[in-house]
Amino acid sequence: MSAAMWAPELEALERERLLGLQLERARASIERVLRRPAWAKRLGGVRPGDVRSLDDWARLPFLTKAELRDAYPFGLAAGDDYRRIHMSSGTTGNPIVNPYTAADVAQWGEVMARCYVAAGVTASDVIHITPSFGLFTGGFGFHYGAERLGAMVVPVGAGRTALQLKLMRDLRATVLTAIATYPLRLLEVAREERFDLSTLALRVGIFGSETWSDELRARIERDLAIRTHDIIGMTETGGPGLGIDCAARAGIHVWEDHYLVEIVDPVSGAPRADGVEGELVVSTLTREGLPLVRYRTRDLTRVLSRAPCVCGRTSLRLDRLRGRTDDMVIVKGVNFYPQQVERLVLRHAGVGPEYQMALEDGDRVVVLLEAQPDCDPAIAARIRRDLHDALALSLDVRLCAPGTIERAPGKAVRVIDRRTIR
Ligand code: ZN
Repeated sequence: MSAAMWAPELEALERERLLGLQLERARASIERVLRRPAWAKRLGGVRPGDVRSLDDWARLPFLTKAELRDAYPFGLAAGDDYRRIHMSSGTTGNPIVNPYTAADVAQWGEVMARCYVAAGVTASDVIHITPSFGLFTGGFGFHYGAERLGAMVVPVGAGRTALQLKLMRDLRATVLTAIATYPLRLLEVAREERFDLSTLALRVGIFGSETWSDELRARIERDLAIRTHDIIGMTETGGPGLGIDCAARAGIHVWEDHYLVEIVDPVSGAPRADGVEGELVVSTLTREGLPLVRYRTRDLTRVLSRAPCVCGRTSLRLDRLRGRTDDMVIVKGVNFYPQQVERLVLRHAGVGPEYQMALEDGDRVVVLLEAQPDCDPAIAARIRRDLHDALALSLDVRLCAPGTIERAPGKAVRVIDRRTIR
């Protein structure tokens, strides 16, 4: 199987040559940032000629989220002529600002066009965009890629779910792009409004911006009768488009001519071997406005393979993101991630895909689940047992009526910390 590609000369570039291109671009990127006094200072004496190999790159200091916040607004910016600002939706402190030059906006369109083609999307598709258009990168990223591809775009943005369903049906959308949990909202509103999902022409979904389990993915694919693709990327890297999984669904292809990724131990920062989970570290190779040199993303994943994929692409493949280091919950000395709970819960029929975990004083965790009309009341006990077997923790599982758990307007809120004693 060899699939269509947007830029086959780069996506299927022989690996040795791809690594050569990475090194060349990494050196150009370090030369560029070293011209800025703030970067020269934080890189403490590194000189342009010091990066002779990718191993040398892996000895440069990490860049942290705190440094980017402290650099607000333009402290670590390295471009000359900005055309656009995007920023993170930080709830506390300064947001992380990413200024885009004209070349950055073009680069974004390029990697997003590759993502669409990897998901089997063509110029004949109608692409319905539901992430918001604004400071958040989602809406514009999907928009630029779709324009580059030459597809028809329906740039609805966030909210107005009933209208979204109507437009998808009437404008014959074939591709849905969304924050990963938004399809749940679409399905819920379709049920409430007795909207006939079989009138939709959707065939592909491209979802990201949140970690979503394979179990949630299977539910969305079944209920919307689509094939989904997992896209990654964040404000700091320039928005969605860092990588996507292809039809082979054998890991997320990273566009390595634009991004250099490493996996490190989240505590010590030491490199992790392929196959071993750790924190994703991203360097940008072509971004001008906010170049990243070894940025600690806090996302957890692992390298699945560096071998060519059946689709013909030669880029490294990452596992789907499993969570973020900041999402880790520690109760009675046991560490776990919300996604582990999600996966176990969704294996049971009768409960909805929305869930919320409340952390209470005294090491109590209350897992709130929505019972569907056909739900067996004994399910709470079964889920509690499953969670206990998997996590070696007794969590308090409670069922509630559908619609009880608050639906956040953007990313889903899965954990509420009500502890007064930490
Ligand atoms: Zn592939």
